[in-house]
Amino acid sequence: MGADPAVSVTTATADDTLALGVALAGVFRERDVVLLTGELGAGKTTLVRGIVAGLGSQDHVQSPTFTLIREYAGRLAVAHVDVYRLERVQDVVDLGLDEIADGRALLLIEWGDAIQDLLPSDTLRITMTTADPTGEDAERTVVLAGQGEVWRARWDDLEALVGVRSRA
Ligand code: ADP
Ligand code: MG
Repeated sequence: MGADPAVSVTTATADDTLALGVALAGVFRERDVVLLTGELGAGKTTLVRGIVAGLGSQDHVQSPTFTLIREYAGRLAVAHVDVYRLERVQDVVDLGLDEIADGRALLLIEWGDAIQDLLPSDTLRITMTTADPTGEDAERTVVLAGQGEVWRARWDDLEALVGVRSRA
């Protein structure tokens, strides 16, 4: 058991964040759980848009804030949740984990760190930060951190996809 792996990348523009999501899409498999953290405007939904496009879906990605959960269909089924203002988070998580695509969906959860205890232990945590949340295009730092054996096993693939040379 090594330490949980993590890598940090930066994106200079919203298009860069989309491209990061497109690249990252290649690492995902059925039932993966991804927690996206970062203040409002950090770029969480933008990254999800890239991931969904990278899975080959033409579906339009909008913030799921008022719809609880949104579903997209590409190489994998995707369940996209934003738990920012949700009271019945457990119901929504169960829906994503058990019902969408018969429980095989890739689950992407904005503000997911708040509900970590409700989720499986193998998760990919993505934390986005910026010094300038109002700028049209401004640098984002995107920290990807794997939790659990699933992500340790896949970490070299993830780093290759996002363009980080393996430190092995
Ligand atoms: P969140 O879901 O975290 O609230 P959104 O993805 O909805 O954030 O919004 C991010 C906003 O920041 C968008 O308006 C986007 O155009 C802008 N933006 C500027 N620079 C970047 C960047 N490097 N990466 C992502 N979004 C950026
Ligand atoms: Mg959002």
